[in-house]
Amino acid sequence: MRIVGIEGTAWAASAALYDTETDEVVIESDPYEPESGGIHPREAAEHMGSAIPEVVSAILDHAATTPGESADGLGVDAVAFSRGPGLGPCLRIVGTAARALAQTLSVPLVGVNHMVAHLEIGRHRSGFESPVCLNASGANAHLLGYHDGRYRILGETMDTGVGNAIDKFTRHLGWSHPGGPKVEARAKAGEYHDLPYVVKGMDFSFSGIMSAAKDAVDDGVPVEDVCAGLQETIFAMLTEVSERALSLTGTDELVLGGGVGQNARLREMLASMCEQRGADFYAPEPRFLRDNAGMIAVLGAKMYAVGDTIDVPDSAVDPNFRPDEVAVTWRGDDES
Ligand code: ATP
Repeated sequence: MRIVGIEGTAWAASAALYDTETDEVVIESDPYEPESGGIHPREAAEHMGSAIPEVVSAILDHAATTPGESADGLGVDAVAFSRGPGLGPCLRIVGTAARALAQTLSVPLVGVNHMVAHLEIGRHRSGFESPVCLNASGANAHLLGYHDGRYRILGETMDTGVGNAIDKFTRHLGWSHPGGPKVEARAKAGEYHDLPYVVKGMDFSFSGIMSAAKDAVDDGVPVEDVCAGLQETIFAMLTEVSERALSLTGTDELVLGGGVGQNARLREMLASMCEQRGADFYAPEPRFLRDNAGMIAVLGAKMYAVGDTIDVPDSAVDPNFRPDEVAVTWRGDDES
């Protein structure tokens, strides 16, 4: 079976071809890079409008030159797309592209929740049965665990997403977007600087830390030290709630999802915590952590295989699509 995936919830215009026989995932992506400031929804949508046709076209060219066996001549069985969550103007372009492609190829359409896809790519690549997932992405930060047919949100940010919080701090410094990799690089030369640590039960907050980090730089604390303190504080919070989620669910498998997962220090802290409690930890390779259509195609294939497709009239996008709204049809009901 071969599935085309299309992703464009915020900054990555991306298309992919996933072949279930070989488990090969080919991804074509074109990132939106703001000239200044952060992600501007209108500019991001303009980027999607020009880049989505190009990445989809490149993936269809790839499909045409590799063997496939479906009736459409390209060997494509279904088209999966990100229905949300994300920026409405971007999602609408992705939805339109996916509907048009599915109808042109006369194949079913699969509507994928982007955050569940961040989890499922980790589950798929690790071979874990029923992991807890820490999604540490730009616009989100939450822990997901499976129970009774849904991925439940065990804990989440009470304000901004983790990557967005870091990016707001770096915008204050005048650094270009995205800020996460720059903070990671500068933190290596810094000494830990104390910042507020905010965990309440299974939830956590970043806004106070960001204000304190901005104030520290403005007060003359070396930026490397603030970057080091920022990483240690935020990632310790995420590690604490991940450990509590493992403990509460009795699960001994943790997967990481989302673009902030590209940070080596976060992966190191999570791996160390899992090792200490005898749990297994898996972080997908970077191309599957940041926004990408590969994860959409892989989850799309699992959904298509059990008939979880969507009719065009019902395929409206949802900028606020929460992971626990998704009925998990593809796992079978023997897993808990
Ligand atoms: P979502 O999946 O919630 O829609 P998103 O669309 O913003 O998130 P992602 O690709 O998951 O996109 O994550 C992008 C975020 O990852 C940005 O905020 C960026 O600063 C952050 N990021 C990228 N690399 C690193 C890194 N090495 N360290 C920390 N953060 C990073």
